[in-house]
Amino acid sequence: MLGFLLARAGVPVVVLEKHKDFLRDFRGDTVHPSTLEMMHELGLLDEFLKLPHSTVRNVALQIGNDHVVVGHFEHLPVQCKFIALMPQWDFLNFIADHARRSSCFDLRMQAEAVDLILDGGIVAGVHAKTPDGELNIRAALTVACDGRHSTLRERAGLQVDDLGAPMDVMWFRISRQGTDPADVIGHIEAGRMLVMLNRNDYWQCAYVIPKGSAGDVEAAGLERFRDSIAEMAPFLRGRLGEIDSWDKVKLLTVAVDRLQQWYRPGLLCIGDAAHAMSPIGGVGINLAVQDAVAAANILAEPLQHGAATVENLRAVQQRRMFPTRVTQRLQIILQNNVIGPALMGKGERPKAPLLLKIMQWPLLRRLPGRLLALGVRPEHIQSPAASPRRDRQ
Ligand SMILES: Cc1cc2nc3c(=O)[nH]c(=O)nc-3n(C[C@H](O)[C@H](O)[C@H](O)COP(=O)(O)OP(=O)(O)OC[C@H]3O[C@@H](n4cnc5c(N)ncnc54)[C@H](O)[C@@H]3O)c2cc1C
Repeated sequence: MLGFLLARAGVPVVVLEKHKDFLRDFRGDTVHPSTLEMMHELGLLDEFLKLPHSTVRNVALQIGNDHVVVGHFEHLPVQCKFIALMPQWDFLNFIADHARRSSCFDLRMQAEAVDLILDGGIVAGVHAKTPDGELNIRAALTVACDGRHSTLRERAGLQVDDLGAPMDVMWFRISRQGTDPADVIGHIEAGRMLVMLNRNDYWQCAYVIPKGSAGDVEAAGLERFRDSIAEMAPFLRGRLGEIDSWDKVKLLTVAVDRLQQWYRPGLLCIGDAAHAMSPIGGVGINLAVQDAVAAANILAEPLQHGAATVENLRAVQQRRMFPTRVTQRLQIILQNNVIGPALMGKGERPKAPLLLKIMQWPLLRRLPGRLLALGVRPEHIQSPAASPRRDRQ
């Protein structure tokens, strides 16, 4: 997204992707109203919504016997009052296709950044590995957006604060039938939790377990796993034979962390490379997109003139640190007060915390939906579009 916005502003950009395509299952597929609003501001929303997707208009949680709605979106002052569930590869291919319309955009697939090029302590580009050999790319600014296991942030020696997460997630899919409920379903019981995302013809399911316990779940056997799912979502019982091997279940080791400093001269980290988010709320890709928009707003002009100063890079961190902190804080409150105790519970049915119950009152119920959908300090596209001469069409 940052590559697209900078190229659109006339800044020459090389984007490296280590894989040969963007096809990865079970990734950030929850495109929130904040990201849809970016598409609208870029004039791309109608085309974007032609890509296959399903929509979520309400998010509800079943905690033991308590049913609480945590996401009402109908009042939001935005174009799309829903979350679009869209495979991340469709989203990324869409952005890449639009970015390629600018002659400033150069996407290299199967190019893995393995180290930084340093000029007297200043980051001056990256060394990359490709099937055709090594590549050295020198750049006025290197942006590490290489995810939560970022090679570049590690090579840069930036300090990471691990904020802790009590859970891991096992992802799998189950076919969906016309008579099934339509909304996102979150079900919390003693010792386990199930979140189901409606993907039209299938359910994308997250089975949340205490951290480090995936081996125990597997050792208890597939039959026990399927029974446990059926106890939380009885309407799935006849279909659970679809999970006939552990190969159909992918483990996400949840991490919540944050860099103390997101930059050093010549280098900036954004997205998961700067702050890995908990899957709570499905905010990961949306925060990464917001980082990209903020970075483009602040950096496009200095980069049009050839360089970004350390003050420019600091300004990006200052802009994005507050939303990151608040979002991670809220995730940790939910982890510590709802998810952790429920996962550790042995038999007694969990109850919705008082705060979530209070949030059901008509005057307050808009707040969680707004936070979920738009986040804190939503960004707007302010980076310029270059003159048509620099664009291919
Ligand atoms: C299993 C799983 C499920 C998730 N579910 C959700 C969800 O439902 N909703 C949500 O919002 N978030 C979810 N997330 C988190 C979400 O995917 C991330 O927050 C989001 O994708 C962060 O975007 P990013 O661009 O910073 O990093 P990433 O999406 O991780 O992108 C990094 C990219 O860099 C590439 N790369 C990595 N290293 C290198 C290198 N050295 N050289 C070149 N390329 C490299 C990777 O191949 C990848 O394409 C999930 C994550 C996982 C792992």
